[in-house]
Amino acid sequence: MYKVDHFINGKSSSESNKTSKIYNPSYGTEIGEVLCATNEIADKAVESAYEASKAWSKTGLIYRSELILKFRQNVINRSKEIIDLGISEAGKTRPDAEAELDRAVQALTHIAGVQHFYPSHYSQNVAGGIDIADLRFPIGVIVGVGPFNFPILIPLLHSAMALVTGNTYIGKPSEKVPSVSRLYADIWKESGLPDGCYNVVNGDKETVEFLVRHEKVDGLAFIGSTAAAKSLKMLGVEHNTKVQALGGAKNHMIVLPDADLDMSADAAVSASFGAAGQRCMAVSVVVAVGDIADELLDKIKERMPNLVMGVTDDDKTQLGPVISPENKDRIYSFIDSAEPDGATLVVDGRIRSNSLEGCFVGPTLIDNVKPGMAVYENEIFGPVLSFVRAKTYDEAMKITNSNNFGNGAALFTRDGGVAKKWSDEIQAGSVGINVPIPLPTYAHSFGGWKDSAFSETKGFGPSAIEFYTKTKSLSTRWPDPADSKVDLGFPRNDN
Ligand code: NAD
Repeated sequence: MYKVDHFINGKSSSESNKTSKIYNPSYGTEIGEVLCATNEIADKAVESAYEASKAWSKTGLIYRSELILKFRQNVINRSKEIIDLGISEAGKTRPDAEAELDRAVQALTHIAGVQHFYPSHYSQNVAGGIDIADLRFPIGVIVGVGPFNFPILIPLLHSAMALVTGNTYIGKPSEKVPSVSRLYADIWKESGLPDGCYNVVNGDKETVEFLVRHEKVDGLAFIGSTAAAKSLKMLGVEHNTKVQALGGAKNHMIVLPDADLDMSADAAVSASFGAAGQRCMAVSVVVAVGDIADELLDKIKERMPNLVMGVTDDDKTQLGPVISPENKDRIYSFIDSAEPDGATLVVDGRIRSNSLEGCFVGPTLIDNVKPGMAVYENEIFGPVLSFVRAKTYDEAMKITNSNNFGNGAALFTRDGGVAKKWSDEIQAGSVGINVPIPLPTYAHSFGGWKDSAFSETKGFGPSAIEFYTKTKSLSTRWPDPADSKVDLGFPRNDN
């Protein structure tokens, strides 16, 4: 049993009057506890970040980039510890935790190259000897709040983007998986980051809301469920805190009649059941177009018994647990609702998971799913694949684009013309043609449409810089004082 504390102004802090339990989802057993911050502790973290920002915001871009590279190397040096925490706290399989760390290290490589996406506009001689430059500044103190499913990548992405752009940072990780964020505090310190620039405050909803309301907090980078994303965006508007809030998903994979069905079935199974369906880019709905539906359904079904389900400290495991007993119960209740709602339970995963001790849900396949059903309208966030039948491409698109979520989508086809039309028409933020999980690399934009994001900027890619910085325009003129005169007219730009 271990205890995860806070990290404020370069030091551990154990002040707390409340704790939350940490479980290993593979066994359903308690392995530790995390201290929850009182408002006084959260306030100390804000004061520490606020004071540190006075000097940090004045450091040079290259200096900050070099520090990201030092941190990157130290993260690589601590890989084993980080991966083991992903396995024990988040219930990740080893390959999944390793892949998450790889992605996190790639994010740091990109972020260290901030000079390439930091420049702003400069216009020379726009009128009468006037030059105008947009000057870029850090926004101040940024709070980063993450979900349970990417404890390695998301806190690192938020904190490194905040720090490289000259902001200071307070992380509030998911209370289910707090240890990696806390470990990053030690790694930042060891890399030479000044005290107060990276803080960790543990807690829940109340802590997040306290931070967003705080007058010395300038930004919130949030990733989590849609309900929380939406309410935090609204709270941010009320308190003039800049909020980038990415939410939940229900990603559709449309399979056209000309697609290779074995390849499509492999992709559907991998993208639906990988990470036990707990990825924001997981496929949760397959839409089969035309008369391929029966054959595609059979091919998906025949692959499912081969998935090796089990505890994630066993390296043979492909399909691990879901995060908690509560999530398991919620997923079971969606499976319960399928047949009364008129769908067909083709593979009931509960038969495989009922006898297991940990938080397991066996891979589940539901056919004849239609809009309006509970399994269709809600994000289930578990290994449950809905199978929708559509007669035509137009019908498949109508269904897909009517769904409230728009995080990701995929199309499987061999027809380039239809694929081009689809990429123009599909209403989602990250989409893939014959790519089932189209999570882009960091130089490209990532962030959902519709109810999958409440944000004017993207989580990464070129527009992310607009969230982490603010600009002011500077107009400059060097006139001859001899030409000076009083002129009450509105400035004109015609000379
Ligand atoms: P969650 O919303 O329950 O919690 C996320 C974080 O917000 C946690 O740190 C939690 O303590 C805090 N929180 C929860 N409710 C809150 C509220 N009402 N107000 C303020 N803070 C709150 O999400 P989760 O269950 O940890 O993660 C799964 C969700 O995250 C899924 O919906 C998934 O799709 C989404 N997700 C989205 C992306 C993306 O890029 N769009 C990436 C990963 C996960």
